Amino acid sequence: MIIVLKPSATKKQVDHVIERVKQLGLKPMVSRGTERTIIGVIGPEDILRVKNLEVVEGVEQVMPVLQPYRMVSKEFKPKSTVVNVKGVKIGGKKLAIMAGPDSVETYDMVMNTAKAVKRCGASILRGGAFKPRTSPYSFQGLREEGMRILHEIGQKTQMPVITEMVDTRDIDLFEKYADVIQIGARNMHNFELLKVVGKSKKPVLLKRGLAATIDEFLLAAEYIVSQGNFNVILCERGIRTFEPKTRFTLDVSAVPVIKKLSHLPVVIDPSHASGTWEYVAPLARAGIAVGADGLIMEVHPNPEEALCDGPHSLTFKNFKTLMQGVTKVAEAVGRTV
Ligand code: PEP
Ligand code: MN
Repeated sequence: MIIVLKPSATKKQVDHVIERVKQLGLKPMVSRGTERTIIGVIGPEDILRVKNLEVVEGVEQVMPVLQPYRMVSKEFKPKSTVVNVKGVKIGGKKLAIMAGPDSVETYDMVMNTAKAVKRCGASILRGGAFKPRTSPYSFQGLREEGMRILHEIGQKTQMPVITEMVDTRDIDLFEKYADVIQIGARNMHNFELLKVVGKSKKPVLLKRGLAATIDEFLLAAEYIVSQGNFNVILCERGIRTFEPKTRFTLDVSAVPVIKKLSHLPVVIDPSHASGTWEYVAPLARAGIAVGADGLIMEVHPNPEEALCDGPHSLTFKNFKTLMQGVTKVAEAVGRTV
């Protein structure tokens, strides 16, 4: 960390900062210029409490030299992480395609969707059983029954399953029935939930919060990884901006930025980002073009009748067309589907 003192800082103020650093057991490297004094400090930045130092009298600026996250950073692990979900790899040359309905509604609709998406190249089946709905009056999911249905269909179709967890008390259910635990955008800041899935060995797909910065997103991932679970997949699913024409704004630039900062794989969710089925395919292609390791998308046998997220759900036919387009882009950027 570098502490820059104001040109007007008095000797007393400079000495106070030096003393503060020493009190914390760290060594200040003082450089006194003609204009101002600069203090370099090597040591853990959380001990130094950057924010507190910034308001000390005489201090102009405090510049951290390390990223706030450690174990998810490229510095900590330069080699990219490949998450292995029952043999399906996320983060390698081959793209991971996850697809299925927003919610498990009935056995038959999930089974039909699973077969359809698998035929088109999907390797992981999605389906929500615990739904974090904005309104308490909206469909809340089939809960445990939904988990059982998804699990059974996953086994019959030989597709690992991904489903969202919203409550720490459900961990045993997820250990039993899920292959990937999804942490939804609304729960990215639920640190107790992050700690619980961090203690699990199950892969976790962590979605970016509706208004989370990339640093906040990576710190949320750090919560999971720091508990011992390195099997984390990051998911960019659109953020809140001033633009109302799409449900959220897909931040495609997050992909190369995260790839530069972290070793974790990144996937794109073009469905929730757009909110409209017509935009899902172009956003999926954009995601792959910028280097995403895969996609997670919503597909429904009859979107008109979907209990949740019908407007952006793809029909089987539209999903097939999307996959053809994604395959071409994948080839162009040296990936396979
Ligand atoms: C979902 O995957 O159905 C979902 C609710 O996604 P998000 O958390 O990104 O809104
Ligand atoms: Mn959904």
